[in-house]
Amino acid sequence: MKNLKLASREIAQRTVVNVAGVEIGRDFVVIAGPCSVESEEQTLETARAVKAAGADMMRGGAFKPRTSPYSFQGLGIAGLKILEKAKKETGLPIVTEVIDPRDVTWVAEFADVLQIGTRNMQNYSLLKEVGRAGRPVLLKRGMYSTLEEWLNCAEYILSEGNPDVILCERGIRTFEKYTRNTLDLSAVPAMKELTHLPVIIDPTHSTGRVSLIGPMSLASVAAGADGLLVEVHHNPEQALCDAEQALTPEQFKQIMNRLRPLKAFIDQQEKSEVI
Ligand code: PEP
Ligand code: MN
Repeated sequence: MKNLKLASREIAQRTVVNVAGVEIGRDFVVIAGPCSVESEEQTLETARAVKAAGADMMRGGAFKPRTSPYSFQGLGIAGLKILEKAKKETGLPIVTEVIDPRDVTWVAEFADVLQIGTRNMQNYSLLKEVGRAGRPVLLKRGMYSTLEEWLNCAEYILSEGNPDVILCERGIRTFEKYTRNTLDLSAVPAMKELTHLPVIIDPTHSTGRVSLIGPMSLASVAAGADGLLVEVHHNPEQALCDAEQALTPEQFKQIMNRLRPLKAFIDQQEKSEVI
């Protein structure tokens, strides 16, 4: 793919992004938590539940890029302080979104991984800023973007000197309305051909339906994804954001219980093929 200097598979076989000992690109990494941080009680309770179910990292939004300016926009710094408490208690590294280039430096003090959402994938000044933030970046695919455009956005971050980029497929817009977006599962093996960067799947925003998250999580493992980013809420009915697609802790646990043995089985198959 032309123009790719640092993101190209020609540069390296694979990149492992190490986040406080969690190795994305080597292990299958599950990142879970609520869409937005709403309160200390909600965040801590959800953090404890996802930790108990075996999640590797916690995610929660303090800055929410909402379609309507009248929707809940997140708690801002108060939300980041709550995430800090959740990390202290559970030991789970924190993934949180940053939406404004002016906030990157101080948000990076709270975040182990900075998330760039689908709406900001091509916000080039934001990409340059997170490229200099000294933190791994989880770059979601733009909802109308091609793989080439997505990789060029990763290139913006890499070219600022930040080697730690995790790509996240979160579904693209198609004519289908039953699902919130259309999960492009083929993006996983396709990106594996094009780049050395790890690729994870967001089965939550791509489907928008609780009933589809389990099957698509299992399919992500089979497709060779490096992990998942899933929304879990201790009480989805009360969620201030994305209520209809949040898993309960129990539903999340059930998916985790099916996911790990499938991953172990696939790894075993691959090993015996190599021998
Ligand atoms: C999110 O992760 O909560 C989110 C807003 O996702 P996306 O940017 O993929 O819509
Ligand atoms: Mn969400």
